[in-house]
Amino acid sequence: MKPDEDLTARLRPGCICKGIRLHRIIEAIDQGAASFGEIAGKTGIGGGGCKGRRCGEKVKELLRRKENMDQQQPQAGITRLVTGGYRVNTYIVSCPETKQGIIIDPGGEAEKILAAIAALGVRIRYIFNTHGHADHIVANTELRQALDAPVCVHEADADFFTRPEVRAAAKRELGLEAPAGVDVRLKDGDSIPVGRLAVRVLHTPGHTPGSCCFLVGGDLFTGDTLFVGDVGRTDLTGGSLELLLRSVKEKILPLPPETTIRPGHDYGETPTSTLAWEMKENPYITDFILAAE
Ligand SMILES: [Zn+2]
Ligand SMILES: [Zn+2]
Repeated sequence: MKPDEDLTARLRPGCICKGIRLHRIIEAIDQGAASFGEIAGKTGIGGGGCKGRRCGEKVKELLRRKENMDQQQPQAGITRLVTGGYRVNTYIVSCPETKQGIIIDPGGEAEKILAAIAALGVRIRYIFNTHGHADHIVANTELRQALDAPVCVHEADADFFTRPEVRAAAKRELGLEAPAGVDVRLKDGDSIPVGRLAVRVLHTPGHTPGSCCFLVGGDLFTGDTLFVGDVGRTDLTGGSLELLLRSVKEKILPLPPETTIRPGHDYGETPTSTLAWEMKENPYITDFILAAE
């Protein structure tokens, strides 16, 4: 790992080590330290010093980066299709070496999705839903049958598939009937191998209770949690702006700034952005999260 100037610059002067020790911390991580305890053991710092202070956050970030680099995933193949009446971004994400892949948020037009999969020559292992809203899951049933792939959604959004009163409220609000049926109930921190890729589940409640972002290498699929320059609405059943902002702060902002943001709808000026751009331009992040720090 290279000492990260950007990271060093972002260390707050209020931290006990003023960032001076960052290079030693990076060295320790490079030598295999994988926790605060081990870093403290190797460097003699951290334990009672930086731990829990602002540098602590940065060390966490470095450890996460290292974890991503260690996985040495190949660059995923990513195809975006716009599907259904709500114009959802449906992604086909695949491992270039094994040609195994996943679908994220099939928002309708199953035929079109199947044609794209056939053209790519990808074998679909799973269907992932970023959340349980009907517009993101309309084609679940058809694709699950056609591809023999299990449907995966966070356990907290399984209600959209199973509980009649939640299904009724969602149908009223979205004007769409959601298909029933969940095969895999995801939890925060799950890491699901797909060929040589790993799909990491970040539970980011707020838009819905079980909203998730999926991290594949340096690409983050954010569903309706984070859009380019915007965040998802929180006025529907189970939504909470406070929770959404906390999710963005705790789960998304610690990711590397070069992470590519791939949202569930193309509502911004461009279909994708980077986390660094969002941290500068997204008013929800600049005004409600960073300004409050
Ligand atoms: Zn939604
Ligand atoms: Zn949506």
